[in-house]
Amino acid sequence: MIAAPIGAPEAFGSQILGVLAELPCLTDASIALDRPFMVSNSLPPPPALDTLNEEQSIALFLDFDGTLVDIADTPDSIEVPGDLSQRLGSLHERLEGRLAVVSGRALADLEKHTGELSVARAGSHGSDCRDAGGAAIGAEPKDLAKDTRDSIAEFAEAHGFSLEVKTHGAALHYRSDPTLEHKGLQFAQALAEERGIIVKQGKCVIEFVADEANKASAVRAFMETTLFAGSTPVFIGDDVTDEDGMRAANELGGFGIAVGDRPSENARYGLASPAAVHHWLQL
Ligand SMILES: [Mg+2]
Repeated sequence: MIAAPIGAPEAFGSQILGVLAELPCLTDASIALDRPFMVSNSLPPPPALDTLNEEQSIALFLDFDGTLVDIADTPDSIEVPGDLSQRLGSLHERLEGRLAVVSGRALADLEKHTGELSVARAGSHGSDCRDAGGAAIGAEPKDLAKDTRDSIAEFAEAHGFSLEVKTHGAALHYRSDPTLEHKGLQFAQALAEERGIIVKQGKCVIEFVADEANKASAVRAFMETTLFAGSTPVFIGDDVTDEDGMRAANELGGFGIAVGDRPSENARYGLASPAAVHHWLQL
């Protein structure tokens, strides 16, 4: 994945450049919607969830965009089933509470689209973890400094990026003009080196966060709680930032499921699209 600690600016640059060819940002899970149950990333489909859960207690970690809903042109234009929150609540019951939605979005933004969630969730790429009742788990997230936020906003305004302001970070979106990618990455690298912040790249989005929280730290934080402890973690996601979550799941005796066409380094199984994820989850 592309996360750039400030202490490793050279690695950051090479990592970014190294993945550009693998990340055509217009390739996403929605392409597979006309064949929703075919696996297109060459990984085998996972065994049935209920079968797995009978063999061992499964804890499910679900990415949101590109996993539970199709990716849209802008973060606000996603189409979310009106009863998704209730369906996730039912899945939470089936798994006796061992379910967490782990999104790059801030939790307030996530719940703006889903309605109030009654399942465990982590927002802002794992830096804001909550239990099903909304109580914080782990350390309080750090925030970006005001001058850093201002710099990102000014850059977005000047160069035509869509700015997403998050509770604990910010994001530059360029799905409407993928040619902006190189300019955005140059800016991000310079800012990371100057301000000591973390930069992550996703599908047509560059994210800025203040600390090193990621989806792996979210998985570990949940797995340390009484409710999740001792279960087998399964992380499902479509994007590079989900590789962290899958890696943590692997390290804790579980596995990852990759969604869509993007080749995954850490997934054991694959599902072709959000529709296939819903089918597998019996949502
Ligand atoms: Mg995603």
